[in-house]
Amino acid sequence: MEATVKQKLVSEFIGKCRSEGLSVTPQRLLIYQALVDDTSHPSPEKVYQTLHADHPTISLATVYKTLETFQKHGLVSLVTTLHNTLRYDPKVKRHHHIVCVKCKKVIDLEDAELDALKIPKAVTRENNLIDYSVHFNVICAECREKK
Ligand SMILES: [Zn+2]
Ligand SMILES: [Zn+2]
Repeated sequence: MEATVKQKLVSEFIGKCRSEGLSVTPQRLLIYQALVDDTSHPSPEKVYQTLHADHPTISLATVYKTLETFQKHGLVSLVTTLHNTLRYDPKVKRHHHIVCVKCKKVIDLEDAELDALKIPKAVTRENNLIDYSVHFNVICAECREKK
């Protein structure tokens, strides 16, 4: 992610925290920044590992709780429970994912045609559609080579 894109996400985050009545503590900011810096859609464990060296006082439980709070307030999104692990995403706007089923790598995909998908009647007949995103399960080039 480019530096300007990151800055924009962080300043939007601060703005959204304020409008959600959530105080922007240094710890919350650190955790959000770690998420923005890591384009892999990291799990809470990975965010914790990233922060741990420089911030040994932040516990794994805190990272879990903080990310959960962010998600409840629409500050981050949760990638559909993937391979039984939680994976967080600083992007909350609709986008799609390419997921390697072997190494569990998650790559962002922006695609106007997918954004404009014709929603099947079976989905909307009795339900209110909130949002959707498309996951493409793949075996990535790296994993293919490893064989
Ligand atoms: Zn892979
Ligand atoms: Zn994403």
